[in-house]
Amino acid sequence: MCGICDNKVPNNVEELKIDRCDNINSIPYYTNLKELYIWRCDKITNIPYYLNLKVLKIIDCFNIKEIPYYPKLKKLVIYNCFNITSIPHYPNLKILYIGTCNVNTLPYYPKLEVLKIWNCPKIKSIPYYPNLKKLNIWYCSNIPSIPYYHNLKELEIEDCRKITSIPYYPNLKELLILWSNNINKLIVDNKVNITTDNDTIKLLCNFEASSKR
Ligand SMILES: [Zn+2]
Repeated sequence: MCGICDNKVPNNVEELKIDRCDNINSIPYYTNLKELYIWRCDKITNIPYYLNLKVLKIIDCFNIKEIPYYPKLKKLVIYNCFNITSIPHYPNLKILYIGTCNVNTLPYYPKLEVLKIWNCPKIKSIPYYPNLKKLNIWYCSNIPSIPYYHNLKELEIEDCRKITSIPYYPNLKELLILWSNNINKLIVDNKVNITTDNDTIKLLCNFEASSKR
């Protein structure tokens, strides 16, 4: 049961959270809705188009197959929704968290600044995002490489076995590499704060950094 079942959601609602409701299979249209959070709603199959939606989080919803186009969407979180196989192009998206799902391809998002991907085995490449500042990739066994991102400041790679080298990012400040022993080529400046579980990477970093000076 939730506010929608109880008819307690006002028409002008701006933020709506639906937690563990087994009764509803769709969500009504709300003109002013800006943030929508759906968690463990097994019967919901689709979400309406909301003109003003800025934040959308969908977690543990196994029957949602598609997400509509939202022209103002800034933040999208999809976690553990294995029937979602694609995500639309959102011109204003700044933050994307996507985990444990069957999305095949990441679209081009011109304003994307933060990208976190974990356990998405169908994703085989990451596009170039001109404004990307923070990138986290965990347990993505089929991504073989990461593009060059001019503005990248933070990079975290964990257990991505196909990645063997990392491009030189001129604005990188933080680098974390865990359980990715295949990475053997890495060029960084001395200003980069590096954390890794692999001594080989560390030695190579220091060598490349000192030979660059
Ligand atoms: Zn309900």
